[in-house]
Amino acid sequence: MTYTLTLQSIEPVTHDTHHLVFNKPSGYTYEPGQACEFALARKGWEDEQRPFTFTGLPTDPTLEFVIKSYPDHHGVTDQIADLQLTDQVEIGEAWGAIEDRGPGIFIAGGAGVTPFIAILKRRLQTHGSLGGSQLVFSNKTEQDIILRDTFTSMPGLTCHFLVTDDPESEFAHARIDKDYLKEIVAGTKGPIYICGPKPMVKDIQSALISLGIEDKRLVTEDLG
Ligand SMILES: Cc1cc2nc3c(=O)[nH]c(=O)nc-3n(C[C@H](O)[C@H](O)[C@H](O)COP(=O)(O)OP(=O)(O)OC[C@H]3O[C@@H](n4cnc5c(N)ncnc54)[C@H](O)[C@@H]3O)c2cc1C
Repeated sequence: MTYTLTLQSIEPVTHDTHHLVFNKPSGYTYEPGQACEFALARKGWEDEQRPFTFTGLPTDPTLEFVIKSYPDHHGVTDQIADLQLTDQVEIGEAWGAIEDRGPGIFIAGGAGVTPFIAILKRRLQTHGSLGGSQLVFSNKTEQDIILRDTFTSMPGLTCHFLVTDDPESEFAHARIDKDYLKEIVAGTKGPIYICGPKPMVKDIQSALISLGIEDKRLVTEDLG
C-alpha cells in the first residue's frame, strides 16, 4: 500500500540536511526507529524509492523526516533540497530493525542518528528523563552534527560528539573503535544501538563483541 503526502514545511538543519514535515494520512502508523520507502512524485523520480526514517512521534498529527543530501549522487537526496511546499511524495508502510529496547548506548554516524531521534523523544515524553542513556555521535565536522542542540538539551542524556575531519574542533578526534568503546560500555548492561554506514556498523559490532558484549544486547541497522 502506498500513501501520498504533501509537503507542509522544509527547514535546514545543517548545511546539507533538511527537516521536512508532511501531512499524515489517516490511519498511518509506525514505531519510533522505523523507516519507510519514499519516492518523489516528480516526473522521472516516481520509481526511485529510498528509505528514510520517521523523526516525529507516532502521536503527532504530521509525519517528519530529517534528510541529508548528497549532491554528488545526483539522486533523490539531491532533489530534497529543492522541494517546494505542496510538492508530493509517495511512501510505503513503516518497517525497520531499530526499535526501542530501553535505556542504553546509542551509537550513530551521520544520518544514522535519525532512528534515535524518535526513540529518544518518545523515551523523554514517557519517562521525563533519559538518565542511563548515552549518545555517541560521529561526524566529519561539527557543522555536520544533526540536531546538536536538541540532543544536548535532552535531560539525562550524556552526549559524546566525535569528529573525524575537523582539526579546529574541541570534540574528540577518536574513531569509535575498541579503545574508545571500552570506557563508554564499562559497567553498562542495557542495549547498544548502532546505526550508520555499513562499514562503520560492522566495525563497531566487531569491536563490541571483542570487548565481551553479548550479541543479544546489540540493535543495529546500516544505511547501506
Ligand atoms: C533503513 C534506512 C533508513 C534511512 N533513513 C535515513 C534518514 O532518515 N535520513 C537520511 O538522510 N538518510 C537515511 N537513510 C539513508 C538514505 O536512504 C540514503 O542516503 C539515500 O538512499 C541516498 O539516496 P540518493 O538517491 O541521494 O543516492 P544513492 O541512491 O545513494 O545514489 C544514487 C547514485 O549515486 C551514485 N553514488 C552512490 N554513492 C556515491 C558516492 N559516494 N559518490 C558518488 N556517487 C555515488 C550511485 O551510482 C548511485 O546509484 C536511511 C537508510 C536506510 C537503509
